[in-house]
Amino acid sequence: GHGKLLGPAEIRDLAELLGVTPTKKLGQNFVIDANTVRRIVKTAGVQRGEHIVEIGPGLGSLTLGILETGASVTAVEIDKRLAEQLPKTVELMQPGVDLTVITQDAMKVIELPGEPARLVANLPYNISVPVLLHFLEHFPSIRSGIVMVQAEVGQRLAATPGSKVYGSPSVKAEWYGSWRTAGHVSRQVFWPVPNVDSILVGFDRRDAASSGDAAIDETGAIGTEEERLATFALVDAAFQQRRKMLRQSLAPVLGDTATASAVLEAAGVSPTERGEQLTVHDFLRIARAA
Ligand code: SAM
Repeated sequence: GHGKLLGPAEIRDLAELLGVTPTKKLGQNFVIDANTVRRIVKTAGVQRGEHIVEIGPGLGSLTLGILETGASVTAVEIDKRLAEQLPKTVELMQPGVDLTVITQDAMKVIELPGEPARLVANLPYNISVPVLLHFLEHFPSIRSGIVMVQAEVGQRLAATPGSKVYGSPSVKAEWYGSWRTAGHVSRQVFWPVPNVDSILVGFDRRDAASSGDAAIDETGAIGTEEERLATFALVDAAFQQRRKMLRQSLAPVLGDTATASAVLEAAGVSPTERGEQLTVHDFLRIARAA
């Protein structure tokens, strides 16, 4: 059996006990299937004794799956009722495990206890990309992770230049490291059942030591904070008008079409290219040339 994890009956009972009606606004779709939970934890490669950070633990489905391996968890939940219940549920199902709950909007968290090495989460769909980027930006201790997101968002995160779905999330995610899809998840494993299927996405932060690039620090970032902001502004502009050539789409940021052309030439990028062909390194070179 799945004695240490939550199933459909437990999820229903907990929601009733708390008087919780899942809200769309907070992306509350709870996993009711223990096999899915174990699959996520296995895919994430969670190790005994590791410190994991989870965004949006909800009723605790995934939290219990992570804790079951002997890892410790710091969980950030915005919904007070869920955050208050979580330690009680965990104590009941797996007494004595190591859980810290932070009741806060994950987008506003800039400090975590200890140094979590991995991020494992079934992300609230409405903020999945910004919250991922926020955690990678603020917590360099996070070296890798597995997140569950809407299938379409996951495809975007893992997309490479030239692909139809390559867009600003793809380039921004690439700033921090490498991304891959790691398997589909049916909408039927959630309560309530969402309108779309989900996908697992894995990432590994760029490793300073093995990258051979002396400019890359422990955050895995390929440039300074100032350069990141300049690069992301270019990325946003390029994909706001993704069908246009870069000399046009980047003109609002770089000045005018002529200036944009000159900067692009200086960066070794053809002014008639489109953003969908460029890697994050290309965008950074343009930011540096500007
Ligand atoms: N991890 C649980 C599971 O797999 O069953 C719940 C996942 S549910 C898709 C997303 C969770 O994120 C909900 O519990 C929701 O309340 C929480 N959430 C939504 N917005 C949040 C935010 N800004 N900060 C932290 N948690 C948030």
